Amino acid sequence: MTVGQPGQRGADPGSARHRAEDAASPVGTALRLGCIADDFTGATDLANNLVRGGMRVVQTIGVPAAPVDGVDAVVVALKSRTAPVAQAVAESLAAARWLRGQGAPQIFFKVCSTFDSTPQGNIGPVAEALLAELDADFALVTPAFPEAGRTVFKGHLFVGDQLLSDSPMRQHPLTPMTDANLVRLLQVQCRRSRVGLVEHRTVARGVGAVRERIDALRAEGCRLAIADAVDDADLHVLAQAAQPLKLVVAGSGLAIGMPALHGLAPCVAASLLPPAEGARAVVSGSCSAATNAQVADFIAAGGPAFAVDALRVAAGYDVAAEALAWAAPRLGGEPLLVYATAAPDTVRAVQAKLGSERAGALVEHTLARVAAGLVDAGVRQLVVAGGETSGACVQALGITQLRIGAQIDPGVPWCFAAERGLHLALKSGNFGGLDFFRRAFASL
Ligand code: ADP
Repeated sequence: MTVGQPGQRGADPGSARHRAEDAASPVGTALRLGCIADDFTGATDLANNLVRGGMRVVQTIGVPAAPVDGVDAVVVALKSRTAPVAQAVAESLAAARWLRGQGAPQIFFKVCSTFDSTPQGNIGPVAEALLAELDADFALVTPAFPEAGRTVFKGHLFVGDQLLSDSPMRQHPLTPMTDANLVRLLQVQCRRSRVGLVEHRTVARGVGAVRERIDALRAEGCRLAIADAVDDADLHVLAQAAQPLKLVVAGSGLAIGMPALHGLAPCVAASLLPPAEGARAVVSGSCSAATNAQVADFIAAGGPAFAVDALRVAAGYDVAAEALAWAAPRLGGEPLLVYATAAPDTVRAVQAKLGSERAGALVEHTLARVAAGLVDAGVRQLVVAGGETSGACVQALGITQLRIGAQIDPGVPWCFAAERGLHLALKSGNFGGLDFFRRAFASL
């Protein structure tokens, strides 16, 4: 493969030096990339990969009111993954207009690496609306992120060694994923577009072959195409092949090749945050297999933990106040955990009683109040687990911008919210090692 090798493009020492100087200046270059993420942890995951490649990145919560200066990329974080379709489309279009207004030559619509969505959307409808908004006729689509175990082959998404539909994602509380064939899955969501496939054998032949395939798909009337990728080299090829496109729809994996395409190289300055201080806490609302294991590990190691019972919340008890009263005397000691995280059987039982939407909303609201109360009480280092949960917590905290720092584990960086003087890590449910909740604070 003659293109897309990270070693080749990252090897220019002059470029790295130039970048370090750039990062110190208050106002840098024009926006090189505009990103729209369909949930908050996904936004941080994407920003993390861009920062690792040497881009300076700010993540905004919703569409910013004012310009953002001195960064290479802005990631507009929405909470649109499970919103009604019309709302997801409207918010995504507003974000795209703002990013284009800041000069972004390309829009990166970030979706989950497990392609979290329902037959109604929102990936398909948002992608189609963005194509129309950008006056574009084609976008590449790939959730692949091999470093995190997400690979796509013959259009089928694998989570580790399992097909998506055999993975724990089939039991997700809001977006159960029961089909691993992404071409079929995306086609069901699309009203106006045919969905094609860029197969791995094409990607393996390099950038020219992918561009030829894109032209052929366009000629066949396809406006979207799933692209296979099984390793980082594939992602580098796809990022370069997609560079002339106004829109890409992807997981955060595709971002690893993008900074180098703009002549940037990894540099420490891109990820520097202020020093951390204050009390430490974890708020967890993810029910993924990974988060269940992380909660169990934290408790097994003797970490102080408070369980939020969704049924007690529904019965009218002020569980957030109970959690905060429990936390108050413990703040400033060992990191503490407040969690609604539960095993699939428990979640199913709760959903059977309350309905999945109401259960999710009640728990999110409770955990958001807990997060806000903890920060009011002096927490300055906070980990939140769960995409929807993170969205609710960040909104309750009134945070509008996050500067992205170094990663704790793949896909999960520490961030800094200057408005609250708060170090924050937003962990997507599936991400992080077993001891993530214990290790996260040590890495600050
Ligand atoms: P992930 O990143 O793992 O998808 P999310 O926070 O996006 O996590 O989604 C988890 C959803 O499950 C949230 O809406 C949350 O409120 C809900 N939830 C969490 N705990 C429970 C529980 N014990 N019973 C029912 N729903 C729950």
